[in-house]
Amino acid sequence: MGTVRTATVIGGGIGGTVTAMALARAGIEATVHEAYPGGADGVGAMLSLAPNGLAALRIVGAEEAVRAAGHAVPGVVMADGAGNRLAEFHGFPGLPATHAMARADLHGALTAQALAQGVKIEYGRRLVGAEEGRDGVTALFADGGTAHADVLIGADGIRSTVRTLIDSAAPGPEYAGVLGFGGLVTEDAAAAEPGTMYFAFGSSFIGWWRLPDGRVCWFASLPRTEPLTWAEVQRVPAEQWLARLRERYAGHVPGERLLAHTTPDTLMATGPMERMPSVPHWHRGRLVLVGDAVHAPSSSSGQGASLAIESAVELARCLRDLPDHAAAFGAYERLRRTRVELIGGNAAATNRAKAGQAGPPALPNPEQMFGPVHRHLIDWDARVSADGQ
Ligand SMILES: Cc1cc2nc3c(=O)[nH]c(=O)nc-3n(C[C@H](O)[C@H](O)[C@H](O)COP(=O)(O)OP(=O)(O)OC[C@H]3O[C@@H](n4cnc5c(N)ncnc54)[C@H](O)[C@@H]3O)c2cc1C
Repeated sequence: MGTVRTATVIGGGIGGTVTAMALARAGIEATVHEAYPGGADGVGAMLSLAPNGLAALRIVGAEEAVRAAGHAVPGVVMADGAGNRLAEFHGFPGLPATHAMARADLHGALTAQALAQGVKIEYGRRLVGAEEGRDGVTALFADGGTAHADVLIGADGIRSTVRTLIDSAAPGPEYAGVLGFGGLVTEDAAAAEPGTMYFAFGSSFIGWWRLPDGRVCWFASLPRTEPLTWAEVQRVPAEQWLARLRERYAGHVPGERLLAHTTPDTLMATGPMERMPSVPHWHRGRLVLVGDAVHAPSSSSGQGASLAIESAVELARCLRDLPDHAAAFGAYERLRRTRVELIGGNAAATNRAKAGQAGPPALPNPEQMFGPVHRHLIDWDARVSADGQ
C-alpha cells in the first residue's frame, strides 16, 4: 500500500482527466489544474482511440461515455496510391473496436466523467513553478495561487512546463518534416466502406474514412523543411493550402479526387506534425510526467491519446502499490518506457515516408503491425512490484 495520499495534476486534457480518475480508484485525491479558462470546446481535429486506449478507459469507468462520443472504425485497408489494395485488417475478436472522434468530443466526455466521479478541476491555473519540501510539493501558478500535495503530475502536453522543471535541459518536441491537413468531402470521391480506415501511400500519403453522416473525412500532409507554427499556418488562406495540396496529390488515387472535391471552408490545417524524442528524465523528486509531456508519438501513430490514457492508469497503479513516490515513479517508468518509445519510433518512420525522405513503409501482416499495440491490456487488480512487473 502506497503512502501517497494527494496529487496535483497539471493539465486538464486527455491524460490529466484520466490520471485524476485513476488516482481516485487508487485511493489518492487529485485536483486537476488547467491553464485555459474553460474546457477546450471545439478545439482540435479528429483523432482515434485504439482498442488498448478504450480497454484502459474501462478501468476508470469512462469507456462507454467515450465510445458514445465517437464512431467505430475497426477495419483498415492499406493501398498504394495507384488504386491497388495491399492489405486488409478487420480488428481483433474480443477487443473493443477503434473509435474515431473529434478531439473536443473526447475531451468533453472525459471531463464530464471526471466531474461526475467527483474530480475537482480548476481552470485558469497555469503552472509556472514548483517548490519541493520534506512533506510534499507546492505548485506555483501564474495567477499567484498555489496548491500543495504529496506529488505533482505533469499532464501538460507536448510543450510541458513540468518537463523543464524536472530537467531544464530536457528536449522539446521534434518537427516531423510535414504540415498536417484534413478535410471533408460530400461527393463519392473515394471508395469508403463505413467502419474502415483507408491509408494510401505512394508518391504521397493520404488517409480517409466515412463519417456516420455519409461524408468522407481525409487527412494528408505537405512536406516542408522549415517548420511553421500553428498560428503561421492559420495565417495562410485556405485556398492557397488547397492549391498546394492539389499540386502535390496530382495523379494520386484517391488523393487527387478527394482534394478536387474539398472546398476551402472545410479544409482543416492542423499545423506542424511533432513528436517527443526520448526524454531522459521522466521524474525527479516528487514530480513526474504522463502523456504527451513525456511520450507524444505524433499523430501518425494513431496512439497519442491511447498511450496517454494507458500511462495515466499505470501511474495510478504504481502509486497505489509501492511504498513511496520514488519507488512508484521508478516502476512506472520501467513499465512504460520501452512500449511508448517503440510506438513513437515506428510513427517516426511513417513520418519520414510522408515527408518524402524514405519510401513507403514495409507492410507487415496486420497481426505484426497492430497486435502488440492493440492487444495491450492493463490488469488493474494485479499488484505492481518495484521492478515494474
Ligand atoms: C487543443 C488541442 C488540440 C489537439 N488536437 C488534436 C488532434 O486534432 N488530433 C490528435 O491526434 N491529437 C490532438 N491533440 C493531441 C492529443 O490530444 C494528445 O496527443 C493526447 O490526447 C495526449 O493528451 P495529453 O493529456 O498528454 O496532452 P493534451 O491533450 O495536449 O493536454 C495537455 C493539457 O495541459 C494544459 N497545459 C499546458 N501547459 C499547462 C500549464 N503550464 N499549466 C496548466 N495546464 C497546462 C493544456 O492546456 C492542455 O489542456 C490536441 C491537443 C490539444 C491540447
